[in-house]
Amino acid sequence: MNHPSCLAPPVRRKTRVIRLGDMLIGGGNPVRVQSMTNTDTRDAAASLAQVRALAEAGCEIVRLAVPDEQAARALKAIRAESPVPLVADIHFDHRLALSALEAGVDGLRINPGNIGGADKVAAVVRAARERGAPIRIGVNSGSVERRLLEKYGGPTPEAMVESALGHVALLEDEGFDQIKISLKSSSVPATVAAYRLMADRVDYPLHIGVTEAGTPLRGATKSGVGLGILLAEGIGDTLRVSLTGDPLPEMDVAWELLRCLGIRRRGPEIVSCPTCGRTEIDLAGLAQAVEAKLRFVTRPVTVAVMGCVVNGPGEAREADIGVAGGRDCAVIFRKGEVLRKVRGEANVLGEFLLEIDKLLREFDTTCD
Ligand code: SF4
Repeated sequence: MNHPSCLAPPVRRKTRVIRLGDMLIGGGNPVRVQSMTNTDTRDAAASLAQVRALAEAGCEIVRLAVPDEQAARALKAIRAESPVPLVADIHFDHRLALSALEAGVDGLRINPGNIGGADKVAAVVRAARERGAPIRIGVNSGSVERRLLEKYGGPTPEAMVESALGHVALLEDEGFDQIKISLKSSSVPATVAAYRLMADRVDYPLHIGVTEAGTPLRGATKSGVGLGILLAEGIGDTLRVSLTGDPLPEMDVAWELLRCLGIRRRGPEIVSCPTCGRTEIDLAGLAQAVEAKLRFVTRPVTVAVMGCVVNGPGEAREADIGVAGGRDCAVIFRKGEVLRKVRGEANVLGEFLLEIDKLLREFDTTCD
């Protein structure tokens, strides 16, 4: 099942381990996929439905915005049913952090500098420690203090790092070390530079992301480049791909990114040829239909959808299973060897899915 053409996965940066609920983050633990709900947190039913949908799509940590007390209280019902650890995102009001912890969230995301002074920070740290909840310090280019903006002439990577280290010091002064750090900018080069600087300064786990990445195509590309560079350098213990709108598509991008770098695999990898003058089948339609049908398969399997019987099986030799279209027919192949021929283009999708199903059942009996 391993992709033979993959190079060895990147050597991960050594970080200390923190605990979020039952999940360990940092050290040699897997890079975790995270997202954030865009429902009104006060609407517990809608928020829980989105948490569940995200978890089903491969999200391992979900963050929820907590703008007021009502939202903090709603976390109790959401947490009770959530299949994954939850993080409360708090700004300005330390009482919301205390209420969120009371409601049972597994972790907090705050900027200790903006929740109202040392005594407030101390109260939050005390409550977090009692509940075994880690705190992520999330600095964005837009949240850097005026003093640092003046010192560095803007929200430079150095300014973001100094801002985050200032917040880290506030927690460390309280003897707290269950810390994760993020340094997001909407600029890919600035994000990469900031994380590189931070990776040289501390061994706390890092949550990586490019903020305000954009609509799906641009956002996926931007996150792919930024997070891809960092992950390839071994930087990043949790990640979020930010796309404008529905958070569910973030999962596809996040897992594709991890798969491309050989870091983690989840679900089918659909490879399809670009099509050319030899293509005699509706290949784009077939590839999309195969992808849609396999959407909820979590077992890693490489599936090729190729345009011609002449070159297809050879070009997709590394695939576990594949189909190559001909004129009103197709051949199904495994590991580059032809398995059988299907006559009639209308029959291709159904027959191919049957063979994939057979293969997945074989994996289930041989791998478990
Ligand atoms: Fe062209 Fe065949 Fe290659 Fe697809 S697999 S790009 S149809 S040669």
